[in-house]
Amino acid sequence: MTDADLMEQARRVLVGGVNSPVRAYHAVGGVPVFVARGSGAEIWSVDGTRYLDCVGSWGTALLGHADPDVVAAVVRAARDGLSFGAPTPGETELARRLVERVPGIERVRLVSSGTEATLSAIRLARAVTGRDGLIKFAGGYHGHGDSLLVEAGSGALTGGHPSSPGVPAELARLTRVLPYNDAAALRDLLDREGERIGAVIVEIVAGNMGCVPPHPDFLAALTEATRARGVRLIADEVMTGFRVGPQGALGRYGLSADLVTLGKIIGGGLPLGALAGRASDLDALAPVGPVYQAGTLSGNPLSVASGVATLDKLGDRGVYQLLEERTDRLANGLEALIRETGIEATVHHVPGMWSVFFCTPPVDNLTDVRRSRVEHFRHFFHHLKTQGILLPPSPYESAFLSLAHEDHHIDRILEAARQALRTLPA
Ligand SMILES: *Cc1c(COP(=O)(O)O)cnc(C)c1O
Repeated sequence: MTDADLMEQARRVLVGGVNSPVRAYHAVGGVPVFVARGSGAEIWSVDGTRYLDCVGSWGTALLGHADPDVVAAVVRAARDGLSFGAPTPGETELARRLVERVPGIERVRLVSSGTEATLSAIRLARAVTGRDGLIKFAGGYHGHGDSLLVEAGSGALTGGHPSSPGVPAELARLTRVLPYNDAAALRDLLDREGERIGAVIVEIVAGNMGCVPPHPDFLAALTEATRARGVRLIADEVMTGFRVGPQGALGRYGLSADLVTLGKIIGGGLPLGALAGRASDLDALAPVGPVYQAGTLSGNPLSVASGVATLDKLGDRGVYQLLEERTDRLANGLEALIRETGIEATVHHVPGMWSVFFCTPPVDNLTDVRRSRVEHFRHFFHHLKTQGILLPPSPYESAFLSLAHEDHHIDRILEAARQALRTLPA
């Protein structure tokens, strides 16, 4: 069966044929690849076509697909039962690893997705500060919680609904949106309205409008201006945690936050998220404190086994050095091709994440990102797909490299990119 046949069948019973919008390929046209299996840096479609995968389950698959140690740990756990709704030692094992490696955290609450982590973090921040206001940045995506679907990135941006219908206006009004990388705007708003703001939530490296790294003055404002006003800084590291370095984006830039949200890599491919912070804040959560938060499948034994096995393979700093070298090599290669072809494009990257924007620099915020020529991205995407390389099917999603992407894979991406850039439509 072809992808088109499978999509036709899926559309009859699943909304738009998919369970998460960007998977439907609306932004690039065509039909999605239906995946049969994956191994290392590659995936195979149901019809047998092999692709080099630069989606990596949207940043989850840092070790590559079907890592043998992770799969073995999940199989071992499964034999003992799938879910109990009672404490298991694996939850402590995972939480201990997070406390040891994520800067400034003492307590962890495990949940089942990034969305759950961020919406619980916001409830907690509002409760401990007694303030309902929230600041986010345009193009930042923090899951699909109501307070966060205001000028959101990722699929909300790709689908043209960055602020979703169905979110009550009264709630959306509590969410203030500022341009990413704009230190002055953040300081101004906190100066004027800081006493009504409970939290600032930020992707320290923006990854859901494509990859947009932070400026040093923006990082300084995030930490200083929030601290001065008693506002909780929530570092949403669902994408960057354990990817851009052994201590995530916080470690990479030498920062600390009040609350940290995690997901994707920490579950090693199974559903798992976490919120974490100082004991004095986290202990406001039930059962110690009054802020309610719960989950039947929270700390699921399979997810936790997968997460522990994954983090244990990421314990050695050498893996991050390798990831950084390879991502640098890819980005430098792409920049050389852009110079060679004279195309108007900007490449951004941090270890394990990269984006090509089809516009001139600077690309520092959502307004800049929107200058990127969508028809050029579509050509780039489909050209690479024809060459057996799969990118995220949206100009507003970061692409990824995993530890299974070797130098010869990067050479293949660069060769396909050279042809794609040479044949861009006028
Ligand atoms: C993916 C992502 C989320 C949402 O996580 P889900 O597991 O999809 O709910 C939240 N924040 C960021 C930064 C993300 O990249």
